[in-house]
Amino acid sequence: MVQVKKIDDYRYEIPRTGNMRVPGTIYISQDLLGNFTDDEPIKQVMHVASLPGIVKSSMAMPDIHLGYGFPIGGVAAFDYDDGIISPGGVGYDINCGVSLITTNIDYDEARDKINILLDEINKTVPAGIDYKSSFRISIDDENEILSSGIEWAYNNGYATREDIERTEENGKMLSDISGVSEKAIKRGKNELGTLGAGNHFLEMDRIESIMDEAKAKKFGINNKNNLAIMVHTGSRGLGHQVATDYLMRLNEEDSSIKSEDDRQLISAYIHSRTGQDYLNAMNAAANFGFVNRQIITYKIRKAFEKIFGEDFEHLGIETLYSLAHNMAKAEIHNVDGNKRKLMVHRKGATRALPAYASSGYFNETGHPVIIPGNMGGPSYVMVGMPGNEEITFSSSCHGAGRVLSRKRANEQFNAEDVEMELKSRGIYLRATTKKAIIEESPGSYKNIDEVVRVINGAKIAAPVARLMPVAVMKG
Ligand code: 5GP
Ligand code: MN
Ligand code: MN
Repeated sequence: MVQVKKIDDYRYEIPRTGNMRVPGTIYISQDLLGNFTDDEPIKQVMHVASLPGIVKSSMAMPDIHLGYGFPIGGVAAFDYDDGIISPGGVGYDINCGVSLITTNIDYDEARDKINILLDEINKTVPAGIDYKSSFRISIDDENEILSSGIEWAYNNGYATREDIERTEENGKMLSDISGVSEKAIKRGKNELGTLGAGNHFLEMDRIESIMDEAKAKKFGINNKNNLAIMVHTGSRGLGHQVATDYLMRLNEEDSSIKSEDDRQLISAYIHSRTGQDYLNAMNAAANFGFVNRQIITYKIRKAFEKIFGEDFEHLGIETLYSLAHNMAKAEIHNVDGNKRKLMVHRKGATRALPAYASSGYFNETGHPVIIPGNMGGPSYVMVGMPGNEEITFSSSCHGAGRVLSRKRANEQFNAEDVEMELKSRGIYLRATTKKAIIEESPGSYKNIDEVVRVINGAKIAAPVARLMPVAVMKG
């Protein structure tokens, strides 16, 4: 095993060795360290530390597990002038992320409607690999989505002003879309408003407890036991194709930055032609991801209106926040007393700005951090804590993280047992395949309470509310 040095109860360091330019830092507890079955994810943290221009340290959150090149739960910032951008540091699902939607509906009063509501949503939001989107867009629409993001949804009646305000980056990343291939555009054309397969989900939850009343109010979490909806999806085949295209191009070009440790870490200098092209294409895919989650929100509102016979405003169906957890963004951060422009890669990690660093709707609370746990257990809403810029470039974890690989989950669980378990807890389930049920079983993920304890203990983010699932739709 690789030697990790305990700094405190929530932080472990991997000292510099070999090609590492900076140390590694893992925010984790003794308990969660015990989950590792091998040290491959830790080695990934070390390999990222060797990439040109990396600042401070190669970091990982408590939900760390094996990813493509960079670990999932990884955070790494690179100097904007001398550093790199890496598709493996963003992930194949560009702008995979979570939207949390709040309502005024009391769960107990709506109990008898949950199952039909789930059916209605299941009918309108296609899931799985064999999807067919009922939502047709023209190529002109798609180009507009890629360049203007959620503005397109607003202009076409699928988003409210508040939705825009409560989406990361206001749902629009700057992009010259010419570097998005025709193949990528074609893959996106029929996928707007679809969930995707496997790990992606749409879930109805009830607010189980509120830890910070004041912030919860501002977040639209007004009462314990209210219904909320969580949507986890990204940029679908379009983003996947962008990642594929640029990894291929990097592998063909002599000027690419290759890692001696891992060929999946192939990168480009931010200022290089390929670096800029990837940045633009990634931003375009991110815009598609923001609009995808927004269209699903629109469909959810329609489903609630149909089943409850009231308009969504009256039901209080509002976006709390739509965030990205697979992105690289140019940000200014304080590094050892100097302001520096950095390319912050968050791969299975979310931004967690504290109040003073936030603008717009969240400038008094800080940004919500939405942390799904698993389909049978709790999820959390947290908020960025003051001072976290000094620790993690204001980044937090994005989930509980896998404790079992998909392969091991298949060896250990069967779908019927998992379905029984959920049923016994009163959770309705719709899944496209038995495989998804097995691979996404609660036992495949880490203990979310422990992950949240670490994030809070390390002073990265503080808990606002805890949610429990009542109905889950799995891709
Ligand atoms: P990822 O983006 O890495 O696929 O997943 C994010 C996180 O979502 C996972 O680490 C896991 O903790 C959580 N998660 C996966 N499936 C579900 C689900 O069905 N419901 C909830 N609430 N969380 C889930
Ligand atoms: Mn995804
Ligand atoms: Mn995701």
